[in-house]
Amino acid sequence: MLAEIIAIGDELTSGQRLDTNSQWLSRELGLLGIPVRYHTTTCDTLEAGVDAFRIAARRVQVVVATGGLGPTADDLTRDVLAELSGKQLILSEQALEVIASRFSVRHAVMPESNRRQALFPEGSCPIQNPDGTAPGIVVSLPASEGWGDGHGCVVYVLPGVPAEMRRMWDETVSDELKKGKASKKVLRHRRLKCFGAGESAIEEMLPGLIERGHDPTVGITAHEATITLRISAWADNLEACKKKIIATEHMIREKLGQLVYGEEDDEVEDAAASAIIAASASLASIETGTAGRVAALFAQAADRRQTGSQPFFCGGLVLPDLPGDKPQLIEAAKDVARSHNASIGLAVGPVRPIGTRQAVDVIVVKDDSVMAIEHILGGGGIAMSRAAKSAIDQVRQMLL
Ligand code: ATP
Ligand code: MG
Repeated sequence: MLAEIIAIGDELTSGQRLDTNSQWLSRELGLLGIPVRYHTTTCDTLEAGVDAFRIAARRVQVVVATGGLGPTADDLTRDVLAELSGKQLILSEQALEVIASRFSVRHAVMPESNRRQALFPEGSCPIQNPDGTAPGIVVSLPASEGWGDGHGCVVYVLPGVPAEMRRMWDETVSDELKKGKASKKVLRHRRLKCFGAGESAIEEMLPGLIERGHDPTVGITAHEATITLRISAWADNLEACKKKIIATEHMIREKLGQLVYGEEDDEVEDAAASAIIAASASLASIETGTAGRVAALFAQAADRRQTGSQPFFCGGLVLPDLPGDKPQLIEAAKDVARSHNASIGLAVGPVRPIGTRQAVDVIVVKDDSVMAIEHILGGGGIAMSRAAKSAIDQVRQMLL
């Protein structure tokens, strides 16, 4: 059983709003063990809607769509479904009563346009909407007419408002899909977070793993120099899923070693914080070239930790003019640790030219050991935050 998600709305196709419904629904369908093959986004016209639904309902067995169920003239999803199934729109007295009662409890008069929300293609079923006026719609398209690649297709349409959509999914659609599901497979994901090498370098270190057809699949994405490896496993049950994931995770950790700093939502600074706390240490920073980003990231990591957990960040100074030469930077790192009662001092020097490029010096001092690296700044708008992450990651590396 395969699924497609259709998001409907001019606000989506024009780029004014991000389609978060499809992301949420994809995860939910994945949890039910139904793979999502396509995301389609369409504008509010009848023609585009009919095209999108026709294509989807031909190639998959479950279509979940959101948007365009409102009472206004630009909400055409009902008409699209009527056209798709070749049926008339019929007024449901029962649905009309429910809609009208939503107004009467507020002592309001129902606008005439809301009658539209009680129209359903003949033979379809409404989906209760406890939070809004627009009921959802379920349309079944028969296998005999070739829908769903010859297996039949069920089309669920939910309102665009994210909260209404989610509640209707939780209370109605997901249960229905669970019951009718042909495949009983489960899908689980796991994310490993890496820092210190580029996307292609990491891919090279994992030969064959990121290729199509590998089971479980391993995907790679990069965001501000942090690399995420996403392991996705299908299996007959949860245990089998976990087993596959653990085996692949083990292999990745073995190949990448210290490049893997964490998992799921962990950031580089969270991993450094954990390492500092594990070493019963604490840190203070002083920076010029990263303009306060090091202190900000450590402060955020401290904020994410539960209150009452051991404090690890004693403070950070941001100066416009730290000296550029190494012995003086080492002194600055020692000084900031001393003056903040921290056992580790981290200093980031000013940006300085190196050939045709630019670099910053990063110094970490702890007791008698000093670690110094030269971080070459990349191009683009993320150079500074990458340098800050790199400085923070030095602390983790030193403590390993
Ligand atoms: P309503 O009954 O409230 O009119 P509707 O089904 O007509 O619902 P829309 O008018 O298309 O829904 O959208 C309602 C709200 O939900 C808007 O604020 C819209 O931006 C938001 N919305 C619609 N689709 C999505 C989506 N795919 N992702 C996130 N938000 C969405
Ligand atoms: Mg809309």
